[in-house]
Amino acid sequence: MKIKRGIEFKEGSFLENVNCYLQEAILKTNLDSRFPKQNIGERIMIPDRSVENKISLKMDDGSTRLLVGSRVQHNNNLGPYKGGIRFDVDADLQHTQALASNMTWKCALSEIPFGGAKGGLVVDPRILSESELERVSKGYIRAFADILGPDKDIPAPDMGTNAQVMAWMRSRYEDIYHGVISPGIVTGKPVGFGGSHGRTQATGFGVVFCAEELLGNLKNKTIVIQGFGNVGSHAALLAHRKGAKVISLIDPYLFGGGGALFNSKGLDVERIFKNPRDFQGNMAAEDAICIKCDILMPCAKESEINAGNMKKIQAKVIIEGANGPLTPPAHNYLLEKKVIIAPDIMANAGGVIVSYFEWLQNKQGEYWDESAIISRLERKMKRITKKTFLYAKKNEDMRLTAYSIAINAVAQAKNVIGAQ
Ligand code: NAD
Repeated sequence: MKIKRGIEFKEGSFLENVNCYLQEAILKTNLDSRFPKQNIGERIMIPDRSVENKISLKMDDGSTRLLVGSRVQHNNNLGPYKGGIRFDVDADLQHTQALASNMTWKCALSEIPFGGAKGGLVVDPRILSESELERVSKGYIRAFADILGPDKDIPAPDMGTNAQVMAWMRSRYEDIYHGVISPGIVTGKPVGFGGSHGRTQATGFGVVFCAEELLGNLKNKTIVIQGFGNVGSHAALLAHRKGAKVISLIDPYLFGGGGALFNSKGLDVERIFKNPRDFQGNMAAEDAICIKCDILMPCAKESEINAGNMKKIQAKVIIEGANGPLTPPAHNYLLEKKVIIAPDIMANAGGVIVSYFEWLQNKQGEYWDESAIISRLERKMKRITKKTFLYAKKNEDMRLTAYSIAINAVAQAKNVIGAQ
């Protein structure tokens, strides 16, 4: 099957890749002709605000390191800006712009009243001590406090940050604003400090709910998962508990050896989840991602499936737990090979959906139990997957469909149409 594209699908930077998908959806939705003179196409590609700040980090040995942090507020037509903070060596401004844009589309597709944002800090958190991580997390919030707020811009965890980091950030924010209690300033906090049950596992569980909606019962389905961090480990756990055979887990930073665990009969995910570092890889990571399987869940970083390895991929279905794991040529090639691809802005929306539940609970000052949250999450994930899949029937491209639905929602929000 040859797919006719509105624009050229070439390998680019992460931001170029996101903009490539976006441009095609802008063309498909005829935005520029539907809203003439408003230049909506361009306006929804360029972020509302991109800020970089220098953050100085006092190291335990008394020396000081200067780091660069950023916050990108992409679009708030549908509600306050919302998006995680990533601590990673690649988390520069351009990267953060790509992630912020995807947050806008993810929230719109999920029908939650948030806009899109993202934060980045260029650092390898694995080399920081606990106290250095605390100081830099508080330093990040100090640097951006004036543009953040529970009804303005609400961060959350992403790669390299977690619930503890969110707790430090909330407490620093409250210090800056003279002790005004503001649990809704960040989501993904620890339970007991304004956090919500179910937030930690939300994204990974959401990936599995999406797979179930597309494929039905997962019993005995073979699954390969790349990345065994927050998203990948919880996806593996739930898939395993539902009777799927998780045959490979790929994470060179955890497993050593070749970087991937493999067992054709299915891995003991419960044991691996408890102590992943006790397990030694028995397959090369680059081979494991190409194993024949029913479902591949890339849950690590962007552009991991690209022009270099796309021809070796043998999965029938790909569920994007990570943001941007497929480059445009890989996406196009695999679609032409009839692989079903569940795009990131749909498949990994579980995190921001439960972040929204957390924010609501903070506002109401009452807390819901875990089973209520997980069943609400399941309903929502299955609904957005079904909606996207149904609309995609004609062009068989769920990514183009998901972006188109989201762009329509954002463009139609009254403050865009009203603004001349
Ligand atoms: P994390 O830091 O908890 O885990 C990432 C894992 O990937 C780590 O264990 C790391 O060792 C591993 N990894 C890194 N490079 C790898 C590679 N090349 N091959 C295999 N493994 C590799 O991060 P996370 O929160 O799980 O996020 C993973 C992805 O999911 C990111 O793209 C993130 O933006 C996306 N995401 C996360 C959330 C969330 O709620 N945490 C929500 C939506 C999307």
